[in-house]
Amino acid sequence: MPTESQYPNVPIPDIDLWAFLFERKDKPFPDNKVIYLDPYTNRSYTYADVKSTAIEFGMGLKALWDWKKGDVLALYSPNCIDTPAITWGCHWAGGVLSPANPGYTVDELAFQLKDCGAKALVTQMPYIENARLAAKKVGIPEDRIIVMGDQRDPALKVKHFTSIRNLSKSSRYRRTKMEPSEDLAFLVYSSGTTGHPKGVMLTHRNIVSNTLMIKAGEAGKLSWEGGPTGDGDRILAFLPFFHIYGLTCLIHQAIYSGLRLIVMPRFDLEHFCRFVQELKVTFAYVVPPVVLLLSKHPIVEKYDLSTLRMLNSGAAPLTKELVEALYARLKVPVKQGYGLSETSPTTHTQPWEDWQRKVGSVGTLLPYQTAKYMSEDGQEVPVGQVGELWIKGPNVFKGYWNNPEGTAHAKTEDGYFKTGDVGYQDEDGHFYITDRVKELIKYKGFQVPPAELEGILVSHPNINDVAVIGVYDKEQATELPRAYVVPAGGLGKGEREAAEICEWLNSRVANHKKLRGGVRFVDEIPKSVSGKILRRVLKTKALEE
Ligand code: AMP
Repeated sequence: MPTESQYPNVPIPDIDLWAFLFERKDKPFPDNKVIYLDPYTNRSYTYADVKSTAIEFGMGLKALWDWKKGDVLALYSPNCIDTPAITWGCHWAGGVLSPANPGYTVDELAFQLKDCGAKALVTQMPYIENARLAAKKVGIPEDRIIVMGDQRDPALKVKHFTSIRNLSKSSRYRRTKMEPSEDLAFLVYSSGTTGHPKGVMLTHRNIVSNTLMIKAGEAGKLSWEGGPTGDGDRILAFLPFFHIYGLTCLIHQAIYSGLRLIVMPRFDLEHFCRFVQELKVTFAYVVPPVVLLLSKHPIVEKYDLSTLRMLNSGAAPLTKELVEALYARLKVPVKQGYGLSETSPTTHTQPWEDWQRKVGSVGTLLPYQTAKYMSEDGQEVPVGQVGELWIKGPNVFKGYWNNPEGTAHAKTEDGYFKTGDVGYQDEDGHFYITDRVKELIKYKGFQVPPAELEGILVSHPNINDVAVIGVYDKEQATELPRAYVVPAGGLGKGEREAAEICEWLNSRVANHKKLRGGVRFVDEIPKSVSGKILRRVLKTKALEE
């Protein structure tokens, strides 16, 4: 029998994200509460600021480019406090936001821009060169690049975000209402269980549901509280808004629950510690390598982190040793959550009170989730036995963008999504993730699709065949991508050749996809009779090495 959530179902209103966030009657904090704060510039947005700026931006999109329902706005930027207003301004105009990693190379960005059919692109000045080149490659005119943040260059044809807002003064446009279960709010990119990155279609209902589900899962004696003033919980937000973990758990939760979000463009340990101390941060969403640094790095000693009440780790496996090391040093509990881009993202979280009782578990099912573990031959396995996790609920994505085959492969007819993750549940309904059947590698929580690296590597003149797998590095608490290479003809198999291949690949991909696990030469790549790479054999080989 599939397992149902132990939580009572919370009502999910049948409304779009704009109505959910900005037309609600039950908001427990005033309009002038500061929600997003940039600790570097002190620039901030109150709830009212976000709403008015989003409307102005949405009107500008309609006035300038006749923005229509379903038009896609791409975002290529690290975290910026302008991002929330831009996101919901795009929704106000009926648009879909497609965020991309700002570390992407020109080719990687161009792939996403083309695949999602972006009509315009938002970025910041330090990323303008790649943005212009990628836009040019896919035929987006330069004056459809929008720059946010504090820097600008009047010599360029690109538009600044504030100039688009100003257009609203003369316009009388109305908000485009969306069909919550049908219309898309986001197109995020994930490689799913196999192959290259695909657009994950997330509807308004997906995000509304997940925001409410997470809130219900965080409820309890210790749960976070936004409160009417700045005295409530304050969250440090360095996880990227361009990834689903930051997108829902940070920017949506903050504005829905009235939590103050201290927005960092990227992770930096010293700044993390400084802001926790100075701004009395109480909570942070993290990934395992950050837990590792907080438990071991000497810098941490210089700061008072005692206001931290709890951390939530997700996006990759967190070991028991790390949970214990962090608590021993800082007396800060860290609990786990689990989810995927395809589930908007969160499906499980450990109840606050349970973090110590079930260390290593990713938690229990959030409201509305039904789940089962399946054997390779498609049979449900009993409690306690290992299988692939399948999940059903209102947060499960609509499908992959322009990819009915990929969608049919990932979802069953009765609505289950096949996660590609392997694990088991215990008698109390606590779930554990122990492995993956899918190809995916995760470097510090970022996706590295092996097929993408293999596709580039086989174009190297000295490589005959190749397979890329993830090898776990305990020192850094993350997987590292490693290539097993069958060299062509006369290529040597020494360290110099391996380093040359690493360098060649690394100059063609985003930073997180670099071959940090190195290159190993082999005589052949183990494959099944149908030609599928037997990654499991290589993983065993890596462990033996
Ligand atoms: P993404 O779509 O980028 O969010 O990646 C989702 C994948 O991250 C999942 O399928 C898992 O393989 C992995 N993941 C997320 N959270 C956890 C967790 N708490 N423990 C283990 N793996 C996780």
